Amino acid sequence: MLTPYLGNYRWKDLPVKEYKTDGTGFKDITRQVLFDDPDLTCQLRYFEVQPGGHSSLERHEHVHAVLILRGRGRCLVGTRVIEIDTFDLVSVPAFQWHQFQPVGEEPLGFLCLVNCDRDRPQLPTEADLEQLRQIEKVAEFIKV
Ligand code: MN
Repeated sequence: MLTPYLGNYRWKDLPVKEYKTDGTGFKDITRQVLFDDPDLTCQLRYFEVQPGGHSSLERHEHVHAVLILRGRGRCLVGTRVIEIDTFDLVSVPAFQWHQFQPVGEEPLGFLCLVNCDRDRPQLPTEADLEQLRQIEKVAEFIKV
């Protein structure tokens, strides 16, 4: 089965959805589910964060495999803030805090592979934030 590419990071008949239908802590980000196959037991999504936006600061048991497809930016993984550019690969291990933000004029677009069956993301408590903010680079980076 073919789903043709339409250009501009859109695919035929694939809706551009809100990043999450519940929760807070994110800004100017959309989600498209490219593959959602129970036989593969994984989902491939395309997320796009507009300049000035960011994904949730979160952690969870399930892991992420991320391919940057558009633009550049920075991401937090654990306690490290990493520069990311188009075609870079980012692995987010279990229970590591993570957040993605674009840098520059272009949106930051990335593919993100996850298990179909996965735990719900945890958002940071005030105590978690206090701990994260002990690291200066992390304190400057995170948005909640
Ligand atoms: Mn996540």
